[in-house]
Amino acid sequence: MTKEELKQKLEEKGIPADEEVISKLEMYLSMISDTNKVMNLTAITDPEAIREKHFYDSLLLYPYVKDTAALIDVGTGAGFPGIPLKIVCPDLKVTLLDATKKKCDFIQRVIKELGLKKAEVVCGRAEELAHKGMRAEIVTGRAVSNLRMLSELCLPLCKMKGRFIAMKGPMGNEELREAENALQVLGGKLLETVKEELPSGDVRVNLIFEKYKPTPKGYPRRFAEIKKKPL
Ligand code: SAH
Repeated sequence: MTKEELKQKLEEKGIPADEEVISKLEMYLSMISDTNKVMNLTAITDPEAIREKHFYDSLLLYPYVKDTAALIDVGTGAGFPGIPLKIVCPDLKVTLLDATKKKCDFIQRVIKELGLKKAEVVCGRAEELAHKGMRAEIVTGRAVSNLRMLSELCLPLCKMKGRFIAMKGPMGNEELREAENALQVLGGKLLETVKEELPSGDVRVNLIFEKYKPTPKGYPRRFAEIKKKPL
């Protein structure tokens, strides 16, 4: 979508899309395009596709985060969904978490060049930071791993009564069935399944969970263990 189409689509959804928001998204887009030439930041490179499949898609979470104090974006990569959400929610404290140093360096530059306040990048692994006490009301994960594993990376970072939001594709409901046990063990209760169709026809299934009980002792496990024996 063009810049104008993005603005219109956001307005239709009641997502803030004033001059400042659009100009920050466009600055971010040009940083992604430039950096993608020298490192593998995102497989989607066409600017119109980035606006739709990354920006618009990330911003579909706006209604679920707008009244929250703090959000952790696990495996943010090039910044999705954390950076677009930060751009439209100036009061939200956003922690952009990624295990890859080069991606963290990119996010740090984005924060600086866009002048984003209350946004921090943390370079590290979700399962280790959970044991160090990192927490927020909302924890998001998009294109990081299947839901079974993602639940163990994200739910421990979530405050009690907070939300874990898994951004999934058309197979979201199948993943949900496979993750039933993991969710039960880690205390994630499904509140809502939000199915959206992007203008190009791509289907997205966003799963919204409440953390209804504390993380049991011993979780999250080490990544090798999570991968070898997913819950
Ligand atoms: N959220 C991005 C996805 C980027 S790819 C998007 O929607 O485009 C997945 C990212 O997750 C990678 O950058 C990788 O470094 C990061 N990642 C994978 N496992 C992780 C872990 N356990 N802790 C933190 N980051 C992790």
